[in-house]
Amino acid sequence: MTVKTRFAPSPTGKLHVGNARIALINWLFSKSQGGSFMLRLDDTDTERSKEEFAQAIKRDLLWLGLEWDELNKQSLRTIRYQKAFETLKKAGRLYPCYETPEELELKRKIQLSQSKPPLYDRAALKLTDQEKQDFEAQGIKPHWRLLLNHTTIQWDDIGRGAVSFQGEHLSDPVLFRGDGTPVYTLASVVDDDDLGITHVIRGEDHVVNTASQVQLCEALGGTVPTYGHISLLTGAQGEGLSKRDGSLSLESLRDKGIDPMAINALLAKLGSSEAIEPRATLQELIAEFDIAKFSRATPKFDPADLDAMNLKVLHVTPFAVIEPKIKALGLNGVTEEFWNFIRPNLNTLEDIELWWAVCYGEIPEIGEYYDDQEFLKAATSQLPFPPWNAETWHEWTEDVKKVTGRKGKDLYLPLRQAITAMDSGPEMAVLLPMMGYELVQKRLGGS
Ligand code: GLU
Repeated sequence: MTVKTRFAPSPTGKLHVGNARIALINWLFSKSQGGSFMLRLDDTDTERSKEEFAQAIKRDLLWLGLEWDELNKQSLRTIRYQKAFETLKKAGRLYPCYETPEELELKRKIQLSQSKPPLYDRAALKLTDQEKQDFEAQGIKPHWRLLLNHTTIQWDDIGRGAVSFQGEHLSDPVLFRGDGTPVYTLASVVDDDDLGITHVIRGEDHVVNTASQVQLCEALGGTVPTYGHISLLTGAQGEGLSKRDGSLSLESLRDKGIDPMAINALLAKLGSSEAIEPRATLQELIAEFDIAKFSRATPKFDPADLDAMNLKVLHVTPFAVIEPKIKALGLNGVTEEFWNFIRPNLNTLEDIELWWAVCYGEIPEIGEYYDDQEFLKAATSQLPFPPWNAETWHEWTEDVKKVTGRKGKDLYLPLRQAITAMDSGPEMAVLLPMMGYELVQKRLGGS
């Protein structure tokens, strides 16, 4: 069996880190099994679905590197849902209901006030043909519910092990709205079966849906996929994430300069028993992915963790991956050697411009840092002639120590400041040969 997963967002808002986590887990699961991944836009809610959100979802997934092998859109598959309507109706598994949302809400409140579970009471099943005709005559179009069998529903869940529900503890789900359009519950089952989805991995908020969907799939004569429900990500304070709250949207993280691999590396392990470590490529995450490692505890997403991961990812990114981004900054001469040397010192990728200027170019603010001419002159007089190597810094500073009497911080810091215009940075022993005699002499005030 070839694994096929899908990510099925409704295009009614922007993706946030919680959505991205579900997409990533589905993607990694299928890729780690040599399978394929589908993006399916669940756009049957025509009022709330917007093309601009569909475009934004695609842009965000591509930015993360989660390319899809197939793309589908529920709004283009309405004929299939109509066929399912006929099948279910013929099998006696669909019945028309005429309650208004207000009536249903009232029933719910009454049940809750009597400490009863808020289940649909199947009142519509008792309507006579005459009563139904009367409703229709008043222009009320029915919505349609699935008649659930009151039997045990069970499945072996990738995330939760054996799960079982009693049909009588569930409300018959609405499958078609009054205007004839299908509800997600129906459309999703039809699509998963038609399009060959083998594994449905989604948030635990869908567990109850799954119970109905298993019966629905069977009623339609389909093959029930393997389900996996994983705990949902919350914010740092345990609050739920919402598509309407833009703060953790992928777009806002992109605008903030976060590297997509920082998001992937964090989300691929958050909520699992594996250590969260920086990874520079999705290939590494595919190789280590194991869905069995996810726990049922609720993982929290703390933006501070993402910032820390962003930096760690930068420090492990190989030159081949980062080179195009460096070129995009307008730096063309950067070599792999320079990248490997400088990357532990970067706080953002843009810092490389500064270090490039320190090592090879002009740093105008040099005089502001250290301008004790006498000390610098003494230091310059001891500067060894090239060729320079890893020992040069040590040999030079020993000589400077002898002639100036300075030691420790008073000796090393001014030299670093004069040469780099910075208080800290890479080891001077490595920096010095990289910069070369002429530049160092110039920074010390010589010509
Ligand atoms: N469109 C559904 C949602 O966004 C998809 C859930 C599922 O994966 O089946 O909640």
